[in-house]
Amino acid sequence: MARDSCDGCGRTVTVAGGIANLWTFGDGGEGTAMTLELADGTAHLLCYPCIEVIPDEPTAEDVDRLEQVDEETSRLRAA
Ligand SMILES: [Zn+2]
Repeated sequence: MARDSCDGCGRTVTVAGGIANLWTFGDGGEGTAMTLELADGTAHLLCYPCIEVIPDEPTAEDVDRLEQVDEETSRLRAA
């Protein structure tokens, strides 16, 4: 497990094996974040709560607007 922080809300996350791209959804806590590649070619490490609330086709602005609400919840700040 590698420790890192979410590019959106800044909470500490763990990435299974240090390779974010191998994280798989729903199989029991292998990690709490994954790397999301945006249409503009940039990659952002995002925690699961942020992935839940970010739009289907996120932009870097959406990533900037992510903020932590509590341990298990994130939200998009109003623009
Ligand atoms: Zn986050």
